[in-house]
Amino acid sequence: MSSLNANTGRVNRLPPSTAFRYRRFPGYVLGFALFYAPFALWTKALGTLLGDPVNANIHSTCLRIQLTDLFSGKGFNVLTVYGMTFVILSATALLAGPMFCGRLCAAGATSEYLSRLVPDRFKIDWTNYVNPTGIRYGFLAGYLAAPFAGGSIACALCSYSMLERIMTGNLWSATGFLASSAIITALLWLVLFGLFTKGGRGYCAYMCPVGAWQSGLHALGAKLPFTYKIRYAAEKCTGCATCVKECPMNALKLSADQAAPVTYNRSGCITCRQCVASCATGALSFAQGADGWKRQPLIESLEPDVIAEPAE
Ligand code: SF4
Ligand code: SF4
Ligand code: SF4
Repeated sequence: MSSLNANTGRVNRLPPSTAFRYRRFPGYVLGFALFYAPFALWTKALGTLLGDPVNANIHSTCLRIQLTDLFSGKGFNVLTVYGMTFVILSATALLAGPMFCGRLCAAGATSEYLSRLVPDRFKIDWTNYVNPTGIRYGFLAGYLAAPFAGGSIACALCSYSMLERIMTGNLWSATGFLASSAIITALLWLVLFGLFTKGGRGYCAYMCPVGAWQSGLHALGAKLPFTYKIRYAAEKCTGCATCVKECPMNALKLSADQAAPVTYNRSGCITCRQCVASCATGALSFAQGADGWKRQPLIESLEPDVIAEPAE
């Protein structure tokens, strides 16, 4: 928080990274109001516009359900709340990365901001041990394949559904929260992968198929020069590691390469721009053009000193 400068007698402003974290917060509150019961303002407005009366809750815009319907051949009607939401989020991800995740998704933000309550020494950066990319896309593949195997999408595994149940006090529906597998989701999302994970977004990094879908589109879109992406000017980078510490997805790592001290995992990036706001030298930006990154090496190939936590 702010403090008094002994020399000038003026109140210091917040560090840029902290100020930016506060500036991101209203977007998540807006995201909650847009998509979640009891508000679901986006759902109500779009439903009225399209003449598509749907329930005003998170399930009516859930990309998981839409993806499953699309890939299982149930059909796809763009002029519905489901369809329009799917198209807009997919187009956004193609053009500017998973900005829904980085700036609007209340479920991801809940675990991230709650994790700030736990001292860093109690948190684990799982990405130092298990590469999230394969697991993340594996969950997405599982969701897409489930209907073909006679299964259905699993709302009990869903952080969206869990957040809505918590916020509406509906924890005891169906078979009862404590008796259902949903409690595992809550423990993973909020506790193990939330409170006790560096950045607080372990669920996003490993388990969320909606994030994986957007990241896949971002990986394709980022190859095009006119799309927006996180860009890195290695010649301006001092290797201070502030961005590495600030990234809630642990998508940035220090490397041993002094010419380009930071590597990047685009598949784990939610384009929240927390790193850009934290970089004092202007080495990071969110802009059109080539990205300038070296690909993050596989975890197995990193030297121990490279994967160690950067010094404060
Ligand atoms: S990865 Fe999933 S839970 Fe995380 S911010 Fe994105 S949509 Fe939300
Ligand atoms: S915050 Fe900027 S200067 Fe520091 S390591 Fe990251 S990119 Fe380099
Ligand atoms: S690399 Fe930057 S933009 Fe991407 S998730 Fe990390 S902090 Fe956010």
